[in-house]
Amino acid sequence: MKQVDYIIVGQGLAGSCLVQSLWHEKQSVVVIASSERKASSTVAAGLYNPITGKKMLLTWNAAVLFPYLDLFYRSAERELDTTILYPKAIVRPFTDIQAQNDFWAKSTPEIAAFAEPEQNIEKYDPYIWFPYGGLITKHSGYVDVQAFLGAIKQKLVEKDQYIEETFDHAALQFSTNSVAYKGIQAKKIIFAEGFHNTRNPIFNWVPVKGMKGDVLTLDIEAYALKEVVNKHFFIIPLPNGKFRMGSSYIREFEDDAPTEGGLKEITEGAHTILKKPFVVIEQKAGIRPVVPDHRPIIGEHPEQPLALIFNGLGTKGVSIAPYASKTLTNFLLLNQEIDQSMSVNRFNYLYFKQKNN
Ligand SMILES: Cc1cc2nc3c(=O)[nH]c(=O)nc-3n(C[C@H](O)[C@H](O)[C@H](O)COP(=O)(O)OP(=O)(O)OC[C@H]3O[C@@H](n4cnc5c(N)ncnc54)[C@H](O)[C@@H]3O)c2cc1C
Repeated sequence: MKQVDYIIVGQGLAGSCLVQSLWHEKQSVVVIASSERKASSTVAAGLYNPITGKKMLLTWNAAVLFPYLDLFYRSAERELDTTILYPKAIVRPFTDIQAQNDFWAKSTPEIAAFAEPEQNIEKYDPYIWFPYGGLITKHSGYVDVQAFLGAIKQKLVEKDQYIEETFDHAALQFSTNSVAYKGIQAKKIIFAEGFHNTRNPIFNWVPVKGMKGDVLTLDIEAYALKEVVNKHFFIIPLPNGKFRMGSSYIREFEDDAPTEGGLKEITEGAHTILKKPFVVIEQKAGIRPVVPDHRPIIGEHPEQPLALIFNGLGTKGVSIAPYASKTLTNFLLLNQEIDQSMSVNRFNYLYFKQKNN
């Protein structure tokens, strides 16, 4: 029997950040990841943005998440010998004078730590619609998620810690102090399956739902802005001279294939931002694992503490996964309590409701 500390099911952002965090603490893992169950992470644009939403509010726990993600991905870059983190300012044009006044009237020192006014209209005017100025963010940018996931997978394969298959629940056995799966014995098993958690018989009571989204790659003619632009949609300049633009939000869907509606919505959005002609050269789609309260879900099963979950990264996996991984690692190794806002405990009533029905 092969012995490891932890079995992790799933190698999206949740699984990969957890692997990195556990390796950091000298723990051994085996990762089981399915090529048939598409990872939302392989589609993610990778943006991390402290000021989000229509109302331009500071994102949840920004003061903790953003400094930590910087440390985390920088350390991963060194350990994996790959460029992962691309810090970039994000320019958010105001839609009108009212929006401009409202934002600065409500500004707090916490917001000021992440954003400042951008009034240099001449700089942006040749490329984007920017008549009312905007704000420009600090501690923002994007992560090359494909590069990060690829480097983690490569290292897992080199260490003989990667199994490419769809997890077979019938082959999982729990003993008093260990779990066993097809010749592998571990202290615990962690499910980081994203939206596919809905098919997990142990954790299907957790309220993870799917929110499908499309993302495009564009060529933009004679465009020189280096910042990310974000006005409902985002446009990220990539190192290869192309641009990533997204994204759509689709609640009702049948599969994870790119949609006509998403293409239309995003290209129409592009016309409201860009003054330059563009062509769409690629479209991808995926399914985000969203939770009603928009917080991650980590922790133990209420009646089987050897089974844990790491899910609920929603629309912000890049910024949430590093800190959530650290929190889960501290729980596993040091038994440090998981804050209620992230703990699976907040949904345990759903488990007992399902069990008693
Ligand atoms: C269009 C789009 C754009 C996005 N843009 C951004 C962005 O700019 N910034 C941002 O922060 N977030 C973005 N996101 C959200 C981001 O993708 C998610 O927050 C994050 O990727 C979720 O990661 P995860 O690891 O929980 O799930 P996933 O990435 O879905 O990974 C799940 C993993 O589990 C595996 N798996 C599932 N079930 C099984 C099984 N039974 N057996 C074996 N393996 C299994 C899958 O194969 C996969 O490896 C975007 C999402 C979409 C769709």
